[in-house]
Amino acid sequence: MAGEPQDDCLFCKIVEGSVPATIVRETETTVAFRDINPQAPTHVLVIPKAHHRDAAALAAEAPALAADVLRETQTVADEEKLDSYRIVFNTGSGAGQTVWHAHAHVLGGRGLAWPPG
Ligand code: 5GP
Ligand code: ZN
Repeated sequence: MAGEPQDDCLFCKIVEGSVPATIVRETETTVAFRDINPQAPTHVLVIPKAHHRDAAALAAEAPALAADVLRETQTVADEEKLDSYRIVFNTGSGAGQTVWHAHAHVLGGRGLAWPPG
C-alpha cells in the first residue's frame, strides 16, 4: 500500500537504518543522504521516509510530503553552499529511474549543461 515500507526497497532500508548511508539531514518526514555514485561534487538524494514509487505518485498520494521533499532540497543546497543547482526526479526506466522509491537528486558544485543527457 502507498506509504507503507516495502521489504524489497533499498531506500526503505536506508530509512530504517538496515542499509548504511551517509546521511546529511533528517526531518520527521524526510532523509537526505549522499549518492553512492556521485555525478557532481554535491550529489545528495532527498527522499520521503514513506514509500511512494515515484515523484508523480508522491505528489498525488501525499502532496504535503512532496512539499517537504522540495523544501529539503533547498535546505540541502543552502547547507552545501550551492548558489546554482539542479533538482532531478528521474521518472520511469527510460529516464534512468532505477530505485522505485521517490527521490530528488540535488546536484551542484560544478557547471551543469543544458539540455541534460
Ligand atoms: P535513479 O537512477 O533511480 O534516479 O537514482 C537512484 C540513485 O541511487 C542513483 O544515483 C544511485 O547511484 C543511487 N544509489 C543506488 N544504490 C545506492 C546505495 O546503496 N546507497 C546510496 N547512497 N545511493 C545509492
Ligand atoms: Zn521504499
